[in-house]
Amino acid sequence: MPDVAIIGGGIIGCSAAALLAERGASVALFEQSRLGAGASGRNSGAVQHPFDPLLAGLYRDTVALYRTLPELQLPEAPVGLLLLSRDPRGASLRAAEVATQAPDLAPRVLDEAEVRDVEPILAAGWSAVVLRTGYPIPPQAATEALGRLATSRGAHLVEGLAVRPWVVDGRVRGILGQDGSRHPADAVLVAAGPWSGSLVDPSGGWQPIAPTYGVTVQLEMAAGARHILEEGLVHTINRRVEAPEAGAETDIESLFSMVSVGTTHTIGSTFVPHPVEPERLAELLVERASALVPSLAAARIIGARVCARPQSADGRPFLGSVPGVDGLFVCAGHGPWGISTGPGSARLVVDMILGARSTIPDGLTAGRVVA
Ligand SMILES: Cc1cc2nc3c(=O)[nH]c(=O)nc-3n(C[C@H](O)[C@H](O)[C@H](O)COP(=O)(O)OP(=O)(O)OC[C@H]3O[C@@H](n4cnc5c(N)ncnc54)[C@H](O)[C@@H]3O)c2cc1C
Repeated sequence: MPDVAIIGGGIIGCSAAALLAERGASVALFEQSRLGAGASGRNSGAVQHPFDPLLAGLYRDTVALYRTLPELQLPEAPVGLLLLSRDPRGASLRAAEVATQAPDLAPRVLDEAEVRDVEPILAAGWSAVVLRTGYPIPPQAATEALGRLATSRGAHLVEGLAVRPWVVDGRVRGILGQDGSRHPADAVLVAAGPWSGSLVDPSGGWQPIAPTYGVTVQLEMAAGARHILEEGLVHTINRRVEAPEAGAETDIESLFSMVSVGTTHTIGSTFVPHPVEPERLAELLVERASALVPSLAAARIIGARVCARPQSADGRPFLGSVPGVDGLFVCAGHGPWGISTGPGSARLVVDMILGARSTIPDGLTAGRVVA
């Protein structure tokens, strides 16, 4: 069994640590800040199908893994995802599109009256497609649970130390700490979200993974949404965003989503290529969200946060061995779906690290060419 060093304590790093330790590998995970400090602790908390047939298996495997974590209390059936549309024709088109990408989601168009019936907190005037997916969880819960599982299986988790791969003559030797420390390892897994590109190849020659910053707002309110709610264009979020023309902050691009867990409701979110101050956008997001869910206008804001989606150019993660460096592996670039597909992808990479024949689809390999 190899000694494996993991860089990054997000959902991917923690999943990989738990899975490697379960199989008997000796694992050390290094996190520059604290577990879940990136998007894995600050996302919207929707475990949902990623609308991409190539990623569907990763989602299913992730749900199966989450079912084994008692902390998450995943219900037997999903609560359902409502993709909202002002225009009934838009909802029909979206349903047809999903039917070809993911027929198992059983897309069904709801007219305005049906929408109000199944989701009474919504304002009038919305049609929707209802999909058989969606498990709301507290945003940081999965990462924390997997971190605990990894520790209980003997993985060593180090927080507060930034590290990078230690490579000599095209072969990994371990990792180098920012404090000058050296940690030998047989294999190194880069699971550092949007920071992964420069760790895999400091010269910038490898695949770019760009940060797309998202602000979400947390509100407290007695009655929440029964489903996960998303503006129907949500599939367009899985893409790189360009720097906006100079303009007012009120022009900032956002798409409505709402994920309710008990009396806490996370609404989102923005899509910008630079960091933003979440507090400055909280009221704007609540104002926009109130057009869909009027009761949010009177709800108490209990938090606002920002984090970065690790966005690849083709909307798919990079999995497996890094060409040209023996012993270096990567699992990163999950964009807006890392909580829903990350643990499933970590499992494929763990298999590869442990020497099993790779089952990573060609369209997800670390060495694929992305236009
Ligand atoms: C606003 C928002 C909402 C989202 N909502 C959802 C959702 O509802 N459902 C869903 O499926 N996905 C969602 N996502 C996407 C999901 O959160 C991410 O895809 C996922 O968290 C990425 O996980 P990761 O482990 O790859 O990266 P990260 O969570 O970014 O973790 C990487 C870690 O690596 C650490 N690190 C970086 N460099 C170093 C270094 N040199 N040394 C040591 N450590 C290092 C970082 O500190 C960080 O903790 C959302 C994202 C955003 C931004």
